[in-house]
Amino acid sequence: MTSDVRDHFPVLAQQVEGHALAYLDNAATTQKPRQVLDAVVRYYSESNANVGRSVHAMSMRATDAYEAARETVRAFVNAADAAEIVFTKGTTESVNLVAEGFAAQMVSAGDEIVVSGMEHHSNLLPWRRLCERKGAVLRVVPTDADGELSAEAFAGHLTPRTRFAAVAHVSNVQGTVNPVREIAAATRARGVPLLVDGAQAVAHRPVDVQALGADFYCFSGHKMYGPMGIGVLYGRAELLERMDPLLVGGGMVKEVTVEGPLAVAKAPTLFEGGTPNIAGAVGLAAAVEYLSALGMDRVRDHDAELTARAAAGLRALDGVRVFGAQQPSGGLISFGVDGLHPYDVGNHLSAHGVMVRTGVHCAMPFVDSLGVVGTVRASFGVYNTPEEVDRLVERVATAEKGFWSNEHPTQRFLSL
Ligand code: PMP
Repeated sequence: MTSDVRDHFPVLAQQVEGHALAYLDNAATTQKPRQVLDAVVRYYSESNANVGRSVHAMSMRATDAYEAARETVRAFVNAADAAEIVFTKGTTESVNLVAEGFAAQMVSAGDEIVVSGMEHHSNLLPWRRLCERKGAVLRVVPTDADGELSAEAFAGHLTPRTRFAAVAHVSNVQGTVNPVREIAAATRARGVPLLVDGAQAVAHRPVDVQALGADFYCFSGHKMYGPMGIGVLYGRAELLERMDPLLVGGGMVKEVTVEGPLAVAKAPTLFEGGTPNIAGAVGLAAAVEYLSALGMDRVRDHDAELTARAAAGLRALDGVRVFGAQQPSGGLISFGVDGLHPYDVGNHLSAHGVMVRTGVHCAMPFVDSLGVVGTVRASFGVYNTPEEVDRLVERVATAEKGFWSNEHPTQRFLSL
């Protein structure tokens, strides 16, 4: 990555705890480049108005900016049509929209929904709630001894009762890149719609939703250098045509009477009831343009190199366990230090200016299956450097034993 990338991110110029900031918590949220900050300020300074409602010139300009953002996102993930891009507030809302608006129509008592054993709570609880309500069965495909998922295991859980399936593209705990293409081929062959949670993928690798074969693909702007409060649901047009909205209200209707006829808008407007996050969409488009200018192949190689460097450095330390067996390429790595609670490690690193996430990473069943109370997660982005990775490794090596052991469960609630 070019050296000026770091200068694009104003927040990185500071010191934290008296040390240069090494921000290695990109899987939780990324920092924002000046290009994104400027786009949001410019939108509010020059074009702010509501979309799709008024005939005045400012509203037209805001609508154009909003729809241009949709087209930018479409091209980024290679959707066939901009109408397949629904703006939401993030991955969590995208998954809930599909669960409640689409899958709910297809699932009855005794039917099955299949998810993997490594899902983030946001791609687990919407399916669990739906199954509980319908008397359906949530089938969880177990991961192997290394916490990884095979396409064969996933396919083996599809039965004639399977009505829907969902899987993470990249694990937010171990960084495992799942065989989504093969899983999609298996679900497609059985006529089962598949949702892919791309929250940890889109910022780290080129994503082509058509080549992947995903029926639905979800992601969050804030994890890809865009603003908070904006996210995306991609859905294949023929599936969106059958989906119900989560929210009803202004903006998603064409004709309304109090009790009589009601004509609703088409996708994607149908799913964006209420005033949308227009500035967020504009900022997300700026983030997409930023990433595209860097080149997603280069971004992937850069993030994978840092992740591999971290894995090698940490594996070489006594008493450090790196989770997962894959050569890490997903942009993040999880590890544990013998005799130290993940919090101790996180506090120690923070005191030296290195920001990592600790705990269960909103994936408690999966972390439980690894047999630990939590992990330390370092996650990398375009502005991170090999020197920062080396600082991480050096500081892990000097972490002192604290008073929380790995078996001590009392602090985990803090990290949900
Ligand atoms: N899925 C995965 C894999 C994630 O990492 C996250 C964010 N941690 C989410 C879903 C939820 O994203 P958001 O909080 O932006 O809705």
